[in-house]
Amino acid sequence: MLPLVYHPDYSFPFPGEHRFPMEKFSLLHQHLRETGIAHRDNEYRPGRARAALLGQVHCPDYVDAIVSGSLDQKAQRRMGLPWSEGLVRRTCIAPMGTLLTAQLALKQGLACHLAGGTHHAHHDFGSGFCIFNDLAFAANQLLASGAVGKILIFDCDVHQGDGTAAMLAKEPRVYTCSVHCEKNFPVRKMQSDLDVGLPLGMTDRDYLDTVFETLETLLENVQPDLVLYDAGVDVYAQDPLGRLDISLQGIADRDHGVIRRCRDKGIPVATVIGGGYDDDRLALARRHALVIEEAARIAVSM
Ligand SMILES: [Zn+2]
Repeated sequence: MLPLVYHPDYSFPFPGEHRFPMEKFSLLHQHLRETGIAHRDNEYRPGRARAALLGQVHCPDYVDAIVSGSLDQKAQRRMGLPWSEGLVRRTCIAPMGTLLTAQLALKQGLACHLAGGTHHAHHDFGSGFCIFNDLAFAANQLLASGAVGKILIFDCDVHQGDGTAAMLAKEPRVYTCSVHCEKNFPVRKMQSDLDVGLPLGMTDRDYLDTVFETLETLLENVQPDLVLYDAGVDVYAQDPLGRLDISLQGIADRDHGVIRRCRDKGIPVATVIGGGYDDDRLALARRHALVIEEAARIAVSM
C-alpha cells in the first residue's frame, strides 16, 4: 500500500486571485480520496517543526522572522506570499512532511508527499513562493540520523532548484540534480552538482529521453540510498510559468519512468509535488495527482 503524507493545514484561506494556488493541496487530497488512491489506512500526517529544528538548516534569525512575521518588505516581496498565521503553520509542517515521506520510502520503497518541493528557499531568505527548503531539510535530517549515507535529489520542476543547490553545495553526501528550462526563473542560477538546462518549447520525446538518460547515469554513478524526486508539473505545455511543451501523458510517462528506474535498482523513492500553476485549480490538482497515480501503479507491483 502506497504511503501518502498530507496535512489538512497545507491549504488555508488565501486570496483567490493570487498567482500561488494555495487550494491545490486540499484539492489534490480530495481528488485522491475520490479516486480511492488515498484512504484512512495509507495516510500519514506530519507534525510541525519547531523553530530550533528548522534553524539547523536555515539561518535561525530568518526562521524567527518568518515565524514572528517580522520579515522586512523587500524580503517579503522576494518570497512572494503574504504573511499570515496560516502561512506560518503550513510552512513549518511541510518540511516535516517531506522528511516523513522519505522515512516511509526507506521502510516501504516508495512514498508520496502531497506537497513539498520548495526548492527556491535559500539558507537565509525565501524566494519564488518558497520559504523553507523541505528537500534540504529532509536530506540534512536523514543524514544526521544516519538513516542514509547518500541521497540523490532529482528535481524535474521546470524552474532550477537554486535554493537546494546553494544550501547543499558543501554537502558531498547529497547529490543535487536539476533538469529545468534554462530561460526561466530564477534568472541567476546556482550550481547544482548537475544542471541540465532545457531549451524553450521542448516536447515530450526529447524531454523524456533527456530525463531518463540523466537519471540512469546518476543512479549508476551516485549509487544513492534514497532518491528525493521533485515531480513539478509546471513543465506542462499550458502552465503559465512553464515555457516547455510537455503533454499530460508526457508528465505521467516521466513520473512512471523515474520511479520505475529507481525501484528496478531497489532504490527507495520519496516524491514531492513541486510547482504547478493554473487558474483552473481542479485541473491543476489532477495534474499533480499524476505522479501519485503512477506511484500507486508501481507500488502494487512491488
Ligand atoms: Zn517551478
